[in-house]
Amino acid sequence: MRLLFEEITGKTQRYTISDTHWFPVLDAGLLLAATAELSISRYDRETISVKGQLEGKRETVCDRCGEHIEAELHSEFVYQVTTKEEDELELREMECSDEDAITLYLREPVIEIDDILREQALLVVPLRTLCREDCKGICAGCGASLNKETCRCTPDTSSSPFAVLGKISKR
Ligand SMILES: [Zn+2]
Ligand SMILES: [Zn+2]
Repeated sequence: MRLLFEEITGKTQRYTISDTHWFPVLDAGLLLAATAELSISRYDRETISVKGQLEGKRETVCDRCGEHIEAELHSEFVYQVTTKEEDELELREMECSDEDAITLYLREPVIEIDDILREQALLVVPLRTLCREDCKGICAGCGASLNKETCRCTPDTSSSPFAVLGKISKR
């Protein structure tokens, strides 16, 4: 979705976006569903404030055991979108009023909402996703999924060729 500055009047405008085409197709997995709630209002002639909340669910694989899992996506954000020059004093004062706000400097008075959502999604998707905190992963030796199976690497004395050696050494 793109919004022109001129479409935003003084009154706060609310938008709900529930399509997911903006989601980055990277290692972040597949986005199953997402809803973004946005409150957009005009700060001054050249500045717009975008407050939002993003909730979603993505499908991915555990980085340790490879199981398919669903992971939550949650983000809250505030952007000050402006066409002013970065060094304008007025803007610095404005930033101080909302410390967590991210300032976006635009050349054209057009807000690409998709870009904002994509940036937020990338910020909150962790580099590593695990199916659970203590995921045991996969044994490098036998390939057993250690959350569900026991490792088969421990030598079975009856069938192992070393069993013979064991008998010999006992004599
Ligand atoms: Zn796992
Ligand atoms: Zn093993």
